[in-house]
Amino acid sequence: MPSAPKVFVITGPSGVGKGTLIRGLLERVPDLELSVSATTRAPRPGEQDGVDYHFLTPQEFERRVAAGDFVEHATYSGNRYGTLRSELERRLESGAGVVLEIEVQGARQVRRAMPAAVAVFIAPPSREALRARLIGRGTDSAEQVDARLQTAERELESQPEFRHVVVNDRLEEATDALVSIVRGEIDGGGSGRI
Ligand code: ADP
Ligand code: 5GP
Repeated sequence: MPSAPKVFVITGPSGVGKGTLIRGLLERVPDLELSVSATTRAPRPGEQDGVDYHFLTPQEFERRVAAGDFVEHATYSGNRYGTLRSELERRLESGAGVVLEIEVQGARQVRRAMPAAVAVFIAPPSREALRARLIGRGTDSAEQVDARLQTAERELESQPEFRHVVVNDRLEEATDALVSIVRGEIDGGGSGRI
């Protein structure tokens, strides 16, 4: 009998390469689903509603918080982000596992709400590399890069809380490490169902 679908939480500072690593993971591990988060941040050029994020107004986001619609939610760099329960449950029904790409406060909430979820902290090889990646991505202003790096200092301190840590130095090696953690959890281990 195939094991129950699992929840994989991929966390770590902005710009560390979570999105890039997850793209590689989804190509290599079939039947994994990526949960589309909700946010109040404005779409970046090319981002599509319902694909990259569910873009909500602050009013709609808070209404849904009050209605208990979120598994976890957090404020990050002045915007709200969260995982909708309906989104997660729908994806759990259709795959071998669901991936959440979320920041550290949200990862802690998932750990409390779903102790069987598997969390992986993605760490940068150095602070300088993190800064260079955030600048190189070209999606954030200089002020936003500084704010994200300040938040990153706190996030990096939380690294020991996480069962799995992958240092994203060389992308191929980090992708291999993430794939082997996820495959290992899908092939063995307990249920990640909520
Ligand atoms: P996050 O999702 O954690 O915010 P991204 O996946 O958007 O981070 O990556 C941030 C930037 O760093 C992107 O421009 C990406 O191409 C680059 N990047 C990701 N992984 C590596 C790596 N191992 N080495 C060098 N650059 C990387
Ligand atoms: P960005 O604005 O760069 O898309 O995301 C900023 C931060 O919010 C990133 O660290 C990203 O992982 C995190 N994030 C994205 N979606 C969620 C979510 O649903 N919940 C939480 N807690 N964080 C999220």
